[in-house]
Amino acid sequence: MKGTVVMKFGGTSVGDGERILGAGELVGRSLKAASACVVVASAMAGVTDLLIGAAEAAAHHELARAEAAAEVLRERHLATAETIGGKEKGKLEETIETLVSRFLTLCRAIDALGELTPRTMDAVASLGERLSAPLVAAAVRRAGLRARALDASSLIVTDERFGAASPLMEPTRERCRAVLVPLLAEGVVPVVTGFIGATREGITTTLGRGGSDYSAAILGAAIEAEAIWIWTDVPGVMTADPRVIPEATTVPVLSYAEAVELAHLGAKVIYPKTALPAEEAGIPIRIRCTFRPEGPGTLIRSRPEGAPTTVRAVVCRKGLSLLRLAGKGGPGTAARAFATAAEVGAEAILGTHSTSEQNICLLLCRKDSERVRIALTQAFAAELGRGEINEIEVWDDLAVVAPVGEGIASEPRIAAEALLALGERDVEILSILHGASPHSLPLVIPESAADDAVRILHRHFRLGEPVGTGSRR
Ligand code: ASP
Ligand code: MG
Repeated sequence: MKGTVVMKFGGTSVGDGERILGAGELVGRSLKAASACVVVASAMAGVTDLLIGAAEAAAHHELARAEAAAEVLRERHLATAETIGGKEKGKLEETIETLVSRFLTLCRAIDALGELTPRTMDAVASLGERLSAPLVAAAVRRAGLRARALDASSLIVTDERFGAASPLMEPTRERCRAVLVPLLAEGVVPVVTGFIGATREGITTTLGRGGSDYSAAILGAAIEAEAIWIWTDVPGVMTADPRVIPEATTVPVLSYAEAVELAHLGAKVIYPKTALPAEEAGIPIRIRCTFRPEGPGTLIRSRPEGAPTTVRAVVCRKGLSLLRLAGKGGPGTAARAFATAAEVGAEAILGTHSTSEQNICLLLCRKDSERVRIALTQAFAAELGRGEINEIEVWDDLAVVAPVGEGIASEPRIAAEALLALGERDVEILSILHGASPHSLPLVIPESAADDAVRILHRHFRLGEPVGTGSRR
């Protein structure tokens, strides 16, 4: 729908009654610029963690913890209803009580069974958004608009991968057109629960932690919105972590690929899958700051033809370990090593192997490294015994520092400059994951050197400088 903006408010932006009222006002002001608007609401900050923790406690028969969580949920949402409610207060309280007792019923069932399936977890985790959306809708009404809270389980149809479901776009499009478009045409603001969907049979699913951004993009694509806005509490995507680099600035424009790359490497940008539906439908995403709504934020859109290849930001992820299998493992070793890591629930963040598969490196979270080392030692016991694999080496306390920019990996100058700049300052580089992605140059370095390395690269590529200077040459 032309002129329609889908806007998502994150957990902190709906963190308490005052913030939710602020969000309602922002919707009102935005409607002067946009002709119609769909709101996507996250759970109030911390609520999803609380729900998940309580479900896990119930599975361990610690029902008292779940009951305590229910009380926290109840009080927090009731207090919020008190702030927002006005004459709707009673109705909101009723909704909150119903959802909190559903939460308790689920926790008691989990406790009785001593079992927590991903499907049940989704039923519990979805309650945060189900609690927040009616509150946000009430706040939009307080801002003088018409609004209706809607449960995304009747809009977003997904597959059955509980905990990390993917949308089925065709049925989703049909439902969104049938439900959202008529509301928008009547001038009503639909306020949709983020993070959740349902299977064709109507069983609640969730899209993955942080998935409300993804919900906004899915809904935006389904109704062919003009833009997707992500309201957040930071000024936009930053050139580096401002806690490390005080002169870091907001990146004005990113391509979808750059945003995805940043998200994968751990920058707080958007949920990685968000770009997919938006890019397919050609809808720009704008990251906007609730504290500075007039600020430019960051625009994410297709890269214009002929745009220069340059470094847009430097990201850093700490707390990592590198595991290396050295020797003549032969073909298939890499696949087995990755599969072994996955079997023990560890995510290999990045990996490299030489063409002969003589050396295989896995980059993992520090907390997983010992578990994976033991699993690899067992999985490759025969090869280790025969001396085909010499040993499994582990380096802990590492970080990945990565310049990010579309296409930079195929720009030899950028790699050369990055290595030279770090080399001149004696930063030890343990591994270069060159070519792992076309859009970044991940360098594995000791964690103790990470902040310095970010500083050096940020300065070298002139990232904190006024817009337009970009990288050198
Ligand atoms: N409430 C969900 C979470 O915390 C989804 C979101 O906030 O995007 O993961
Ligand atoms: Mg959240």
